[in-house]
Amino acid sequence: MRFICDEMFGSLARWMRIIGQDTLYLRDVDDDEIIEVASAEGRFLLTRDKDLHRRYPYSLYIDENDLERQLSKVIVSLGLSVDCEKGRCTVCNGELQSVEKEDVEGSVPDFTLRNHDVFYRCRDCGKIYWKGTHWEKIRNGLDTIGENNG
Ligand SMILES: [Zn+2]
Repeated sequence: MRFICDEMFGSLARWMRIIGQDTLYLRDVDDDEIIEVASAEGRFLLTRDKDLHRRYPYSLYIDENDLERQLSKVIVSLGLSVDCEKGRCTVCNGELQSVEKEDVEGSVPDFTLRNHDVFYRCRDCGKIYWKGTHWEKIRNGLDTIGENNG
């Protein structure tokens, strides 16, 4: 399953990528363009626009304001599996590839290099990720969502 988020859901799109979902996020496009891209690529639309939801039924209408609730709604409604090990690039939606510590030397701060052993690089834009406190926070947040929904 692949996704597309409407313009209101920039943060949600980033989180969808973190949990391993292929998610497109377009800026400055009108409803027609979103529908066009969504149907051309067979993407499931996450939207907070009722009209858009009605026009493109392969979608989920989300009216929650809180990011955790939005993400929770998507995961629960669609029965998605959450796989942080298969996270995607939050910047460009590219696939992440695990890389050796030696390979990122010079590309990340020395402090980071000293304190982490697991690194990933985006296949598309080259951005480097590592498992740090941010990652843990996300996992804990997701665990909470999982617990709340049984
Ligand atoms: Zn990238």
